[in-house]
Amino acid sequence: MTKVKAALFGLAFGDALGAPTEFMRYEEIIERYGERGPRDLPPRGLVTDDTQMTLAVASSLVDALAHPPLTAHALEPLLRDRFVVWLADPENNRAPGNTCLAACAALREGRPWWKATVHGSKGCGANMRVAPMGLAPGLTDDERAGAAQLQAAMTHGHPTGLAASELSALAVRWLLDGLPVAELPAALRARCESQREVYRTDWLGDDLWRRPMVDSPSQFIATGWDECLSVLTGLEDQVRYVGPDADPCVAGGAGWVAEEALATALYCLLLFPDSPLDAVARAAASSGDSDSIASLAGGMAGAVHGVDAWPADWYGRIEYRDDLNRYAAAWS
Ligand SMILES: [Mg+2]
Repeated sequence: MTKVKAALFGLAFGDALGAPTEFMRYEEIIERYGERGPRDLPPRGLVTDDTQMTLAVASSLVDALAHPPLTAHALEPLLRDRFVVWLADPENNRAPGNTCLAACAALREGRPWWKATVHGSKGCGANMRVAPMGLAPGLTDDERAGAAQLQAAMTHGHPTGLAASELSALAVRWLLDGLPVAELPAALRARCESQREVYRTDWLGDDLWRRPMVDSPSQFIATGWDECLSVLTGLEDQVRYVGPDADPCVAGGAGWVAEEALATALYCLLLFPDSPLDAVARAAASSGDSDSIASLAGGMAGAVHGVDAWPADWYGRIEYRDDLNRYAAAWS
């Protein structure tokens, strides 16, 4: 129970720690915060679009789960509604991603999602918000995978965004269920291999994959799994070669794209498997997409360690704490 709450709050804490550093150079971050990065939540605990959109996904999922079974048909209109609400929210002023803005504007016009989506985009907006698909109890891995890919596909149509979103959701789930952090990279790589030619028509329909130079659904999705597998390969070795006092983006990539955000966040966990605060501070002290990397890292670290992972006073200072508490209660 407490681990679901720690994961939800953890992703928000990471987002808030990384928000000020997203557009700072690595050297500037270290100069301001020290070698190991920002370690205290700013007084107002402001988050960014990562947490806002995670809450949109969580809200959609809670409503969909009230009327099982969970299907694309049930979930898509709810996601569309919450994404459009987020688009118009006056608080949507936290450096939102261009892909999300463009796709949500097209969703608002009522276009089919497979036409509204930005086909070429694999930005980390696809997976920075996917944790609810791993946190909700009682779903099968197939349901988590399908829902994770659908929520990604509605804005980010690139197959790597889909694969990385599935992996990001399952990572949170598997950690909640007790998989040791050290075993997670291999488990995710095995998933890349087992799912390589699995196109989820029941969740994605028969239109998304039809792109220039693509001959089949399995060929479309294989591209995404291959890119994820590539960035997850050798990640454990980077712990030794790059180490805890260096920019984590050297190991996993800058994280502006989905598979790198996951890899760099996971790398920060591998650096500090027993210290969630060190992991998320390292993620926030990164040259790339710091808030998204730290948000992904915070969600995973919370799923491992439970509520004691984070300083007690942070829970009362973070923005959107009432929403986070509501979903924590619903899924615990
Ligand atoms: Mg953000």
